[in-house]
Amino acid sequence: MDNFALRYPFTDDAKQVLEGAELNSRIIEMGFQRIKNALEGKAAGKIVYSENEIIEEIASYAAARMILGTLGNQFITGRFAVNESKIARAHLNKENQAAVNRIALHFGIITNENLLDIPTYLKYCPKSTPYRLINRRIVSGKVEISENEKLRLIEEGIRKHMEDIPRPNDPPEEIKKAGERLLLELPKHQTRITVKEGDHPPCIMKLFESVKKHQNLPHTARWYLATYLIGIGMEEDAIVEIYSGLPDFNEKITRYQISHAKKKGYRVPSCSTIMSYGLCCAVCRIGNPLKWHTISNIRKEGIR
Ligand code: SF4
Repeated sequence: MDNFALRYPFTDDAKQVLEGAELNSRIIEMGFQRIKNALEGKAAGKIVYSENEIIEEIASYAAARMILGTLGNQFITGRFAVNESKIARAHLNKENQAAVNRIALHFGIITNENLLDIPTYLKYCPKSTPYRLINRRIVSGKVEISENEKLRLIEEGIRKHMEDIPRPNDPPEEIKKAGERLLLELPKHQTRITVKEGDHPPCIMKLFESVKKHQNLPHTARWYLATYLIGIGMEEDAIVEIYSGLPDFNEKITRYQISHAKKKGYRVPSCSTIMSYGLCCAVCRIGNPLKWHTISNIRKEGIR
């Protein structure tokens, strides 16, 4: 049997493999475990040998999606989407061009001499500065991308696909129970962001909103948020708690990055820099987001 469907369980090839397969307790348990692995940040796929094991493994992906669809928990779905897209990306890195193009086609990512049409590019490009259209070379109305960037776009396509899970109609009782068990597996760190309007500048409030909704933040947004939280004197544990809302949260890496940023003395960037990152969402005229606090104190206390 072709292992392509196993490596990419979201493809039509995988659907064909599953034709006639039935959902049973073992598959549901495997689907549950697949999601649990994502919550624990275990990126490695399972090694399978027999045809039956391959079918079960692909079916476990379908079961995992049913569980997630029933649960409707954005945080767990986000963790699953990030984990599965990273597993698929690790496979993609080892594929030949034909296989890469086969997956790319699944998302309509069709390049000709490394050129991709702008709407598809915008649909799948990561939200980070190097990918902003303004920073790209445009040739004949198309965006030039490297092979590595093409893989990154495919990875993003896979992640988005994984996040888009329909709610199943009348799911089996075992699927519902698996979803309830998953809620008990949620990390101990739970984001508690209790801020009221005006506590922080609008760009930071917007980032808090994204974290609350467990949305993925681009690298520049994470870095800016960290410098800001360090800048206002927030304790490391409190910052980690905020970052724990991100779908790809890893406590060890987060703590390392915070202490690294502190050690290096990274400063909060100016409003104009934040604007160039695409993260500014208001016209505060304060020059630097940290000044928000001085100015709002002046507003509260009045100028004597
Ligand atoms: S003007 Fe500055 S503080 Fe206000 S939203 Fe933009 S970047 Fe943030």
